Amino acid sequence: MLLEAGKDLGISPGQVSAASPRFASPVAFRVDCRLRRKPGVLEDFPVYAFKYQRAESVGAASAALSADDSAKVLSGGMTLLPSMKHRLTAPSALIDVARLPEMTGVRQEGDHWWVGAATKHQDVAAHPGLQKAMPGLTTLAGLIGDPQVRARGTLGGSLANNDPSADYPSAALALQAQIITDRRTIEADDFFLGMFATALHSDEVITGVRFRTPQRCAYAKFKHPASGYAMAGVFVAQYAAAGAANGGWRVAVTGVANGVFRWHEAEQALAQGAQPPAMQRDDVIDDVHAPAAYRTHLALQMLAQARQSLS
Ligand SMILES: Cc1cc2nc3c(=O)[nH]c(=O)nc-3n(C[C@H](O)[C@H](O)[C@H](O)COP(=O)(O)OP(=O)(O)OC[C@H]3O[C@@H](n4cnc5c(N)ncnc54)[C@H](O)[C@@H]3O)c2cc1C
Repeated sequence: MLLEAGKDLGISPGQVSAASPRFASPVAFRVDCRLRRKPGVLEDFPVYAFKYQRAESVGAASAALSADDSAKVLSGGMTLLPSMKHRLTAPSALIDVARLPEMTGVRQEGDHWWVGAATKHQDVAAHPGLQKAMPGLTTLAGLIGDPQVRARGTLGGSLANNDPSADYPSAALALQAQIITDRRTIEADDFFLGMFATALHSDEVITGVRFRTPQRCAYAKFKHPASGYAMAGVFVAQYAAAGAANGGWRVAVTGVANGVFRWHEAEQALAQGAQPPAMQRDDVIDDVHAPAAYRTHLALQMLAQARQSLS
């Protein structure tokens, strides 16, 4: 999506693949400035003409997406609409799934909790059952953006977008989530493929997410002071797992590298009751907002905070 938009505007794939529609963010700001420098491109911020369709069921949404290669799912619109406004994407049609009851809500399913993909961040944050079973998840949802973003933005939109600084992907990885779509179930370990990339097909709809209930879990996030996105976010979950190298611990990190990842060395340290080692990766973000060494330091600090919050 972003690569195509870049081609239209004469911007290289490398530049655009680092783009984000959130303009308070570092990468997005750089691309926004490049776009604004192109005469006649963005002065008036017109949005391309597109069709709008409110889907009446998941089946209807799937059919509409299959019928049009350039149609896109619209959920909270918090990311997609700014992307269109800034011409990073130009879908021919938006298929609105935000009000579908079959994609909304929270329920317990045995040792999992199902959360509908169209469930708003504010509703995840305020759910009493989730607050008790997975306090890390509800804390995380309450830390996303601001009240307006939490009132519109959705779990499915956040996972499908897979912003490298988004919060939910870390919960999905740490809580062994299964991403359920209109055609299959994808394990979180196989879902996130790097910056803004996922295993989803372009016409695939996430309908819900099943999080496996941990013994305990917690999330800590150091916010970028302007955008509120994670400069480092660490989700820690513990499961019963006698004999496993990670002792049942799962640690997932967002905001630090080009995509969410599991921090295996930290998991092993937690299993051994040892001090987690400094993070060693070659894809740590190093930019004007924070050098790589500072981000890895923040990750260690957020891990310590999350551990302290475990109950
Ligand atoms: C000011 C601001 C601050 C923010 N701060 C944070 C923050 O601190 N942390 C954070 O994590 N996020 C933050 N966000 C992002 C926010 O969480 C968005 O809600 C989220 O990125 C996208 O969710 P959405 O429901 O709005 O999706 P949309 O904008 O509707 O869609 C985003 C993308 O996902 C696709 N999509 C949507 N739903 C589905 C689905 N069910 N199946 C398949 N594809 C789908 C769309 O086609 C589109 O490509 C912020 C956003 C803004 C505007």
